[in-house]
Amino acid sequence: MTDTSMEEDLKQAISHNAFQINWMPVLETATEHVVAFEALVRWNCPGVGNIVPDIFLKLAEKLKLIENIDRWVLHYTCQAAQNWEKPLGLSVNISPSWLETERVSKTIEAALSASGLAPSRLQIEFSEQGNFGPSDLSRKELSRIRALGVKLVLDDFGTGSQALERLIDLPFTQIKLDRKLIHRIGKDSRVDTVVRCLLHLAHSLDMTCCAEGVETEEQLGFLDAHGCEEIQGFLIGRPAIAMPFDRPSST
Ligand code: C2E
Ligand code: MG
Ligand code: MG
Repeated sequence: MTDTSMEEDLKQAISHNAFQINWMPVLETATEHVVAFEALVRWNCPGVGNIVPDIFLKLAEKLKLIENIDRWVLHYTCQAAQNWEKPLGLSVNISPSWLETERVSKTIEAALSASGLAPSRLQIEFSEQGNFGPSDLSRKELSRIRALGVKLVLDDFGTGSQALERLIDLPFTQIKLDRKLIHRIGKDSRVDTVVRCLLHLAHSLDMTCCAEGVETEEQLGFLDAHGCEEIQGFLIGRPAIAMPFDRPSST
């Protein structure tokens, strides 16, 4: 498939909202209950098959069309969560590349109002690897989102180059430790030390921690012992179309 034909197919998909959502559970470590689901967008390109999100989302960013995908995901998932039988948390990924438009907070507000979802159930994840644009604009926009009563997660923590700056300057409520770090727990004592210190750092800044990419009981045990509040990964559940609470409460 050429780049140009993928671009055309993606534009078509965006104009028809031809995406699906996979759901990934978030476990609260202390209670071992699923407390939230993260929405992960999927694109099945006709005649080609599933395209890896990292590829089509980067292409959408390049085409300046990522806002359209993120807007659809927000509206779709807020409505879905409002219909769950349990009032669990909803976590949605948004590309930081359009924070500078200052339209992200308005889009979130519109999705909350259209669905009736309580803002306290929603959290928005921004990947630390992304481009946050001018810092004054991103700080203002993230503060507007916080003012809606929505939580903010710094995703993929430990992979980008501006992790500490973002932690200090921006109003995040949680850091999500990247799975590259989590995979090395128990194999390298220096990694164990770094993870312990990152948990301490987050807690000292009044933030909670989630670890992503947890695949073994050993990783889970280590994170639990050091106070990591939430866990995600194949050990708990893989991203899937089906989820336990996706039926409307009326059925
Ligand atoms: P992310 O938000 O960090 O999501 C976690 C990714 O890690 C997912 O990949 C998930 O399948 C994978 N993963 C989770 N646990 C494990 C594990 O235990 N082992 C392994 N090997 N992998 C695990 P996915 O679905 O390919 O998503 C990639 C990225 O695409 C996401 O990373 C997120 O940054 C972005 N993304 C997904 N949905 C959206 C969306 O609706 N909008 C935007 N802007 N970005 C999205
Ligand atoms: Mg995420
Ligand atoms: Mg991540």
